[in-house]
Amino acid sequence: MFADGFAHSALPMNVTFGRGMSPVKEHVDSLGFRRPMVISTHNRTPLARSVVEVIAPVEAEIYPGAVAHVPVAVVDHAEKRARDMGCDGYIAVGGGAPIGLAKALALRTSHPIIAIPTTYAGSEMTPVWGLTENNVKRTGRDPVVLPRAVVYDPNLTISLPAPVSVTSGMNAIAHAVEALYAPDTSPIVAMMAREGARALTAALPRIVSDPTELAARSEALYGSWLCGAVLGSTTMALHHKLCHILGGTFDLPHAQVHAIVLPHVLAFNAPFAPQMVAGLDDVFGAGDPWTALWDLQTSLPMPIALSEVGFREGDIAEVVRQVLAIPYYNPRPVVAAEITALLGRALVGSTPTP
Ligand code: NAD
Repeated sequence: MFADGFAHSALPMNVTFGRGMSPVKEHVDSLGFRRPMVISTHNRTPLARSVVEVIAPVEAEIYPGAVAHVPVAVVDHAEKRARDMGCDGYIAVGGGAPIGLAKALALRTSHPIIAIPTTYAGSEMTPVWGLTENNVKRTGRDPVVLPRAVVYDPNLTISLPAPVSVTSGMNAIAHAVEALYAPDTSPIVAMMAREGARALTAALPRIVSDPTELAARSEALYGSWLCGAVLGSTTMALHHKLCHILGGTFDLPHAQVHAIVLPHVLAFNAPFAPQMVAGLDDVFGAGDPWTALWDLQTSLPMPIALSEVGFREGDIAEVVRQVLAIPYYNPRPVVAAEITALLGRALVGSTPTP
């Protein structure tokens, strides 16, 4: 492993874990926020209100309009609101949707972001932004969107329903899997990826048994931090590309799609990525990691077929067209017939095969 050498450059990280929400106030003060916008999804507005209370007497305004995949129209609306209120910083609380909106706003205004993640998606650890316009999702990297501070409070994740926790955790494990075969992986990235995936695979069944178990919630959030960090440090491949098309063009739910597609891409890439297979020994034990992942998934409350989340057979050709349109790194050559077959298996939820 790594006989051909490696390069490693670390992103700045300012993370507090398990110290409640009080660090948010410290970050607001140290970043000099005077008029922050607290961004959430509609159903998390009470949580946004508690952030406003924590940072008092600094006056904040809540923007509860974040939605998945960051539509341009939502960013335009939020940007106008931010300019009208004299906003000088963003506090994103919730999953990847509010963090994604804060990033899109930071890209336009350069105001810093404090992130308080309450799912396992991992966006808070990356300089990657995404934007959806005319049914096409574009992504890019810019250091200005990397949150300046991240506050992980496992107590805030207790309310995440078990099925959402499972698919969100699988979304995080997908970052780890692709980091293990990324062209820019390194020994540190590989350690973080293995540990992140291990923590999540151990925690998710416990969360399903008891969503209120704080130790399991802490382990899952710790794993998601590590998986998010490797997502931010490496180049993702076929899995993320496929999910990005499925989410952006067909408006399918982000975490479920990642969860369903993962064992299929893992199996597909495995013969061409021995370092990934060896790395996952630490997570799943010896044997096929795709079979172990599949066994875990079929024991948990999550969809296993893309048809369950609204994808149709007639849409496969368009996904294949898009996935082949722009060249990108993948350990195994991406061939139309093989990707069509892979999507066919994911569509109906049949057993993953290499
Ligand atoms: P999300 O933010 O839409 O959250 C899913 C649902 O869970 C929402 O209804 C939300 O309100 C709810 N929720 C969140 N936390 C909760 C809690 N603690 N208790 C109860 N309900 C809660 O979805 P997500 O899966 O977290 O993120 C998906 C988005 O993030 C996508 O748009 C994706 O593209 C983006 N993303 C970006 C990156 C990146 O690096 N740029 C990485 C991962 C994901």
